Amino acid sequence: MSRFSRFNVTASLLASVWLVILLIPVVVLLVVDGPLWRKIAGTALFVAFAAVYSVAFGLMDSTPSRFTPRGRFLFWLVPLAVIAVATGAVAGLSAGYLVPFLVAYFAFPLPPSRSIAPALVIVISSSWTVLTVAEDGELGILGATLASPVFVYLVALASQRADREQQLSHDLAQAREREGVAVDVHDLLGHSLTVVTLKAELASRLVDTDPAAAKDELAQIARISRTSLAEVRATVTRLRQPDLIGEIEGARRALATAGIAASLPKDAGLAGPNARLFSWVVREAVTNVVRHSGATRCTVEIGPDRVRITDDGRGFDGAEGNGLSGLRQRVEDAGGTLSVTAASGTTGTEVLVTMTGTQTGEDS
Ligand code: ADP
Ligand code: CA
Repeated sequence: MSRFSRFNVTASLLASVWLVILLIPVVVLLVVDGPLWRKIAGTALFVAFAAVYSVAFGLMDSTPSRFTPRGRFLFWLVPLAVIAVATGAVAGLSAGYLVPFLVAYFAFPLPPSRSIAPALVIVISSSWTVLTVAEDGELGILGATLASPVFVYLVALASQRADREQQLSHDLAQAREREGVAVDVHDLLGHSLTVVTLKAELASRLVDTDPAAAKDELAQIARISRTSLAEVRATVTRLRQPDLIGEIEGARRALATAGIAASLPKDAGLAGPNARLFSWVVREAVTNVVRHSGATRCTVEIGPDRVRITDDGRGFDGAEGNGLSGLRQRVEDAGGTLSVTAASGTTGTEVLVTMTGTQTGEDS
C-alpha cells in the first residue's frame, strides 16, 4: 500500500479551497512598504501554513499510523501553531488571517464539546492581541480573528449535524426492520400457542372423565405444534432472505448519501443459507467504506459461498478495530474466512468472505 493512497483527497480539497483567502495578506505584505526580508519570509510562512494545512486534513485520519487519532490530531497541529506564531512575529497583524483556519482545524474534526474551548482561546487571544497592538485603521483585521471564526464554527456545526442525521436515518430504518420481524413472529406464534394452551387445559380436565376426548385433544395439540414448527421454519428462512435484501437497500442509501457510486447485487437469493452471515459482512464493510475509505465507488458482489466488497478509496492500513475483528469471529464461527486487503489492480480496499467448510452461516 503506497503512502499516497491513504491521503484523503476529498477532505484535503474541501479544507484547502478556503486557503485562497490567504492571498489577501500575502498581496498586502508584498505591496505595502517594508524590508525585503520581511516580504520574503512572510510569504514563505503563509505558503508553508497553507501547505501543512491541506496535507494535515488529508492525512489526519491515517498518518502517522502508529499514533492514536488524538496523537495524529496533535501531530499536525504543532507545525500549524508554530508557523502561525512565527507569521505573527514576521508579518505582524496580518497573521490574523490564519485564525479562522486554526479554528477550523478544531471545529471540523472534533465534536463541539471538545472544540469550543480551544476555539475560544484562539479567537480571544488573537483578538485581544489585535486590540492591544493595532493602530487606527488596522482594526479591520478583527474581521479575520473574530467574525470569520464564528462563521467557520457555524459551518462546522452544520456539517456535523448532517453527518449525524445520516447515521440516525440508518438506525431508524434498522429499527423499523426489527419491528417488522417482531410483528411477524408474534402473529405467527401468538395464535397457535394460545390454541395449544387452551387445548392442553381442556385435555387435563377431560383426562379422568373422558379419556377418549382427552386423547383426541392431545392429538390435535401435536398436529398444531407440528404445523407451527414448519411455519416458524419457513418464516425464519423467509426472514433471513429479506435481511440481506434489507442490508443491501441500507447500503444503497448509505452510499448514496455519502456520494459514493454503488454497484450492488440484484439477486441476494444467491447467498442461500449464508444470507444472514453475509448481511453482517455487507453491513460492516459498507459502513467502513462510508466512514473510512474516502472512496468514489463501491462494489458489492454476492455468490453462493462468497461475498466481496471493494472500494477505490485510500486503502486499508492493516489496523483492525472492533468492527472487523468481531466480523472475523462471526465468519470463522460459521466456517468461513475473512480477508481485508488492498484491492487488486487499483488502490482501495477489498473485503472478501469465503465459505470454505461444509458448515453454512445458518445458526441451527
Ligand atoms: P472502526 O470502524 O470502529 O474504526 P474497524 O475494525 O471496522 O473499526 O476498522 C478498523 C480500521 O480500518 C478503520 O478505523 C479504518 O482506519 C480502516 N478501514 C476499514 N475499512 C476501510 C476501508 N474500506 N478503507 C480504508 N480504511 C478502512
Ligand atoms: Ca467499522
